[in-house]
Amino acid sequence: MNTWLLNIQQQLSRQILASKLPHALLFAGVPNAGQEKLADWLINVLLCQALHQENVGQEQVVIQPCGQCKTCKLFLNSSYPDHLSIISDKSTIGVDVIRKLSQFFEKTAHIGQAKTALVNHADHMTISAANALLKTLEEPTSNSFIILTTDRSDLLLPTIISRCQRIEVRPPVGEKLLAEFHQQGDDVFVNLSHLNELSDSDAAHAYNEFRTHFIQYLTLHRNRNEVLVALAQHSDGYRWLEKIVVGLMREQSGWQTARSDNTLVKIPDKQQLCHIYNLAQTANTKLKTLVQVNRQFLSEKLLADISFAIRNSDQN
Ligand SMILES: [Zn+2]
Repeated sequence: MNTWLLNIQQQLSRQILASKLPHALLFAGVPNAGQEKLADWLINVLLCQALHQENVGQEQVVIQPCGQCKTCKLFLNSSYPDHLSIISDKSTIGVDVIRKLSQFFEKTAHIGQAKTALVNHADHMTISAANALLKTLEEPTSNSFIILTTDRSDLLLPTIISRCQRIEVRPPVGEKLLAEFHQQGDDVFVNLSHLNELSDSDAAHAYNEFRTHFIQYLTLHRNRNEVLVALAQHSDGYRWLEKIVVGLMREQSGWQTARSDNTLVKIPDKQQLCHIYNLAQTANTKLKTLVQVNRQFLSEKLLADISFAIRNSDQN
């Protein structure tokens, strides 16, 4: 296991040994941060009948499954009957799938150990799927555990997040990129968990470019086309937009000092930024939850709405 996962394993091991593991957990982090690995480990630990403790440092212990007992063998073989995995690659997770999950928990366990379910990419749930899951999270059956993983926790319903123990999986980040973002005034330590652009230099470059274009669009009404192309074609475009607007709102509130590239031009006031943020968030949710959405059209509409919001301010 990677070093940054080991700390989380220790924490979870302590909770398990003290019988204080909650029945729903959410592992969140950048893509491939290790949240799936952790989920796999935890589920195996919850099912294994012959756990052992591994010393990993001064009085630090991590519980490990044996890999040999009947339940371990079944689990490793993907044929353990009291576990349900919902693995989504690109497609959405619909309400039918989540209803099956609820029914799965209502039935008594075959083997008599814990019942577990895994929902990978929980952010792929449609709104109605998420609402169905909420009911299951609110009415836990005994000795049952639901593990969610995501690399886009910003797209999860807050009510889902609040019912889970949320664990941020944070791999170390290149010093250089950290410094770069620090200079820009980005609150890296708060946002680290969902920033591809922090762990990938191409993404960092694309993000910086988009940020410059968007701010010029807001302040000078330039670069509409560049902004549109990024929104319509870059998979992170909508999230970036939200992040940038949040950053501008912070500057407006005096939480962070304004940067030199903003000081000479008028940026929209707090109320307008808030409005723009809501527009961006609504569009992002649509993009995520509607099956047949035209991204190009959605992006054009979003920019038209933002443009309208700024133009209104110019006339006042
Ligand atoms: Zn075992």
